[in-house]
Amino acid sequence: MTQFERYGQVPPPRSDAQGDQPYRRGGPAPEWMSEDPPWAMPTRRHGATMAGDSNVACMNVIRTYRISSDDTVQALNGVDLELEPGTVTALIGPSGSGKSTLLRLLACVDRPDSGLILIQGRDTARLSRARRVKFRRRRLGYMFQNPADNLIEYLTVRQHLRLAARMRGVRLRRREMDELLDRLGIGAKANNLPRQLSGGEQQRAAIAFAAVGPPALLVADEPTGQLDHDTVGDVLDAFAALASTGVTIVAATHDPIVAQRADRVVHMVDGRIEEER
Ligand code: ADP
Repeated sequence: MTQFERYGQVPPPRSDAQGDQPYRRGGPAPEWMSEDPPWAMPTRRHGATMAGDSNVACMNVIRTYRISSDDTVQALNGVDLELEPGTVTALIGPSGSGKSTLLRLLACVDRPDSGLILIQGRDTARLSRARRVKFRRRRLGYMFQNPADNLIEYLTVRQHLRLAARMRGVRLRRREMDELLDRLGIGAKANNLPRQLSGGEQQRAAIAFAAVGPPALLVADEPTGQLDHDTVGDVLDAFAALASTGVTIVAATHDPIVAQRADRVVHMVDGRIEEER
């Protein structure tokens, strides 16, 4: 079994792992190493009865933005949602319906005003800011719409994987990197810099970067929004390959092909989940 396939079994962090520090050797041990190690993290600390077998669960999540002293916008208006491990969920809905807000909460970039967000049993909404950052680094992957925003311009694809392994505190052998890249269809591009990749290849490199660990959840905001029709299928194949290893994927999208290929489609309207397929 490869590192990539070993879903849920995260080996101890390397002693030189840098956590939230910039990518460099040496330096002090990262603060997160004093936390519970990831392999000891209970999979469902609070959620066993509430969230059933789901990997991710939102319960009555509310998020209000304050625009001025007397004006607010309720972006999420009581979202309930469960995501199963190993599935791809497409989040669709009109502009302004709350998709990006929900993704930001799932990705631990932001916190809800109220409600629960359980990821592998951990209520991420209750984590302090510092612990949320650590949780995000270690357990979550995030993909932006613009391929260039997902990659560091001076690192090759292989160097991105090394960086991901150091950030997540896992060991990733060269053979395992090659297997991961082959699986995502970019095995021949391991030594390329981002500018030497097409947009679709860049997005697959971003998926590879997110896949190291592996993460509990990959959150993608319009991942195919800037790709031409021919390369969208390659990115969706990469999602399917990653999901087949047990990773949960949720993608906000306006692209009908993404929705068609997803295991599940969730429709948001006015800050609520209105329909599901
Ligand atoms: P979508 O991704 O579906 O287009 P968003 O989550 O971006 O929807 O936005 C939901 C609502 O919240 C919209 O009315 C939007 O204007 C508002 N909103 C989003 N982000 C902010 C913000 N940072 N400050 C104030 N209002 C915001």
